[in-house]
Amino acid sequence: MQSGPRRRFRLRYLLLLAVAAGAFVFLGRHAWREWRWRYIVIHHTASDAGNLEYYRRLHKEERGWPDIAYHFVVNNGASNTVPGQIEESNLWKERSRGFSTRNTYVNTVGIAVVMVGNLERHAPTTLQYQSLVSLLVTLAREYDIPPERIIGHRELQQTKCPGQHLDMAKLREDVARELAR
Ligand SMILES: [Zn+2]
Repeated sequence: MQSGPRRRFRLRYLLLLAVAAGAFVFLGRHAWREWRWRYIVIHHTASDAGNLEYYRRLHKEERGWPDIAYHFVVNNGASNTVPGQIEESNLWKERSRGFSTRNTYVNTVGIAVVMVGNLERHAPTTLQYQSLVSLLVTLAREYDIPPERIIGHRELQQTKCPGQHLDMAKLREDVARELAR
């Protein structure tokens, strides 16, 4: 049998260890959820149809991904959405591991925002564009991301995404102006 004080010491030590382990796990989870975002990457769907559920099914069925590969969807009014309506995907809600076409890391440190529409053919509507700007301002503030780290998919990889009618320089300026208010 162990003596009282020594046993108490060991219990206290174990308790301290458990608290430290708990804090470590909590911090790790928090860091993964909130501290890894360095960029916001803008995409377009290259099609004027659909909403989050539509592209979710498309990505699962046609690409074999576990879910939609975007964090936020900015709708254009198709598929019973309101123009400019923003939908949050499971990828964002659950902060599951990033997955995307070629480079997993893009969705791991970058918040993927997609505009519904073919912006290679036409510009977004004013409502949809304003909605995009306000989402970017919110995310930029929350995650301390400067406007110069809001980038178009084509600025990262060989692609036309998010389309020639989305002027990335102007978008960064518009976000910067709102942030300065
Ligand atoms: Zn893209």
